[in-house]
Amino acid sequence: MTALLEVEDLRVAYGKIEAVKGITFSVEAGQVVTLIGTNGAGKTTTLRTLSGLLKPLSGKIMFDGEPLDGVGAHKIVAKGLAHSPEGRRLFPRLTVTENLQLGAFLRRDTEAVEKDIQRAYELFPILGERRKQAAGTLSGGEQQMLAMGRALMSRPKLLMLDEPSMGLSPIMMQKIMETISELKAEGTTILLVEQNAQAALSLADHGHVMEVGEIVLSGTGQDLMHDESVRKAYLGED
Ligand code: ATP
Repeated sequence: MTALLEVEDLRVAYGKIEAVKGITFSVEAGQVVTLIGTNGAGKTTTLRTLSGLLKPLSGKIMFDGEPLDGVGAHKIVAKGLAHSPEGRRLFPRLTVTENLQLGAFLRRDTEAVEKDIQRAYELFPILGERRKQAAGTLSGGEQQMLAMGRALMSRPKLLMLDEPSMGLSPIMMQKIMETISELKAEGTTILLVEQNAQAALSLADHGHVMEVGEIVLSGTGQDLMHDESVRKAYLGED
């Protein structure tokens, strides 16, 4: 079986700085795969390249059986790859509902869009309570929920989440991780970028550790959680 996403020897540079130095990994349908690693490892660069926001130097990206090379960011969303970016990038003056509607900007099935908005409110009841509030007035955790809800509005085949736990309180973080588990249980395929290795590995089928642009270690979430070097470097153990 071919994977939903296959990335082969991907290289990405900012001018002369090579941020991603030939990484290879894949994501099977229904899996949660995580990329972990410290600041500057190249995780965000990888997601931005998959979304079509950055052009790779070289390498192959296959999504749902088709190459993504040279495909524009809009078309990539239409093909079923959605991105909840680092820093959330919401429209702060627009309401919660309007932000969700914008996540469905490519869809013409108005009734189904309305149903999916209701579904987002079931997944995140607090967003339903605040549906008329400007997104910029939400707490960090609520904004993260809205960013995830918005990405889901395109009904993606693959949902890419960039550091959903960033800046959140432990309780909020737990809530976000529970939601990711819930989405996984429903069969959503997820590529999760996290600095919080513990949380990410505990729910991932597979994980890859990135260091300065390279994948240095791969394994199942459980294997990596028990790997001694991972424990020392990322799980704060001596
Ligand atoms: P973070 O958790 O900080 O997002 P990351 O693993 O996602 O870390 P990237 O943001 O992909 O890492 O950064 C990888 C490398 O590319 C770093 O050395 C970073 O300084 C560099 N870099 C990132 N964005 C740019 C840019 N717009 N211009 C130049 N260099 C960049």
